[in-house]
Amino acid sequence: MYPFHWVPADGRRHASLDKRPWGNAYPSGMLVNTLCSQEVVADATREAWLWKTCDDCNSEARRVAEAVREVPRMSV
Ligand SMILES: [Zn+2]
Repeated sequence: MYPFHWVPADGRRHASLDKRPWGNAYPSGMLVNTLCSQEVVADATREAWLWKTCDDCNSEARRVAEAVREVPRMSV
């Protein structure tokens, strides 16, 4: 599980490390800090998920995902 989540806002799908208050998506109207260093208002409508991915968030998300993979698994 990666530490970031995708959030449609402002006409783009951004990624964020912010915690989601509940469920699998940020609720509409929530202020979210994105990986491209913006503060955006989440839009949880169905159409919003069809927006283009934010390029900055996309490359930053890839970097985060790789960093997570390199961390050795904690023994349980
Ligand atoms: Zn972004």
